[in-house]
Amino acid sequence: MRPKKILGQNFLIDRNIQRKIILNCDLNKDDLILEIGPGRGEITQLIAKSNARVYAVEIDEDLCRLLKDKFINFKNVVIIKADILKLNIKRYFSFLPGRLKVIGNIPYYISTPILEHLIKYNDKIDFIFLTLQKEFAKRIVAKPGSKEYGSFSCFIQYYTEPKVIFDIKKTCFYPVPKVDSTFLRLIMKRKRPLDRKQEKKLFKIIRIAFSQRRKMLKNTLREFFPLDKLNTFFEKYNLSYSIRPEDVSIEDFINLIKLA
Ligand code: SAM
Repeated sequence: MRPKKILGQNFLIDRNIQRKIILNCDLNKDDLILEIGPGRGEITQLIAKSNARVYAVEIDEDLCRLLKDKFINFKNVVIIKADILKLNIKRYFSFLPGRLKVIGNIPYYISTPILEHLIKYNDKIDFIFLTLQKEFAKRIVAKPGSKEYGSFSCFIQYYTEPKVIFDIKKTCFYPVPKVDSTFLRLIMKRKRPLDRKQEKKLFKIIRIAFSQRRKMLKNTLREFFPLDKLNTFFEKYNLSYSIRPEDVSIEDFINLIKLA
């Protein structure tokens, strides 16, 4: 079957890397795995061998047929023909009491919407293991002061603890993509410091702040907070009045919202 470029089909063909991914997912028989884009089912097969239960969501009808055939005798593998972005994870898995581990080598062009989609189900998911474009992974784990740090880093780091596990050369895939990849682990945070209303405000402020990266934070914030609150914030958290958003940590953005 020829890989479909339009569906981001770059199959991971290096057996050592496949095994390394599985080792790092630390699987056991009680795990409930949601696999995104199983492709030809090579990672799926390794997950299945751990005796974990796998729900593999694949959009491509041809691959689904192949996968259903391949796993016909596996009691712990379910192939779901669906677009992951349209799958209501909470509703679909409501019959399962446990929380999910997500595993996926996902298409680059929908990496952002997939992550945003998964985060919506933060109370149903414990871990996310993703193979992503290296540059994209760098943005996710970026810390203040680096050029990759931005509103997306803050968004992901608010909900999860992301960690680069290892990089993967582009030659490990077929067809060979233009760029290298990274295998990333994200641990979903169980407790969050803000309520939903505050979170909405937090992300609004972060978006606006980073859309004016070169502007001093205090000037951007002036429109949204009373001056006395802003002064308290800069003083209490020992921040320079000339600090720019790219040097402000997610913790400090959270502190600002808590003060307001
Ligand atoms: N897991 C396989 C591997 O590692 O070789 C395939 C990875 S390939 C990069 C991405 C897979 O995601 C393809 O099988 C593709 O058909 C599937 N896919 C693309 N868009 C999808 C979507 N919206 N929902 C579910 N699967 C999707």
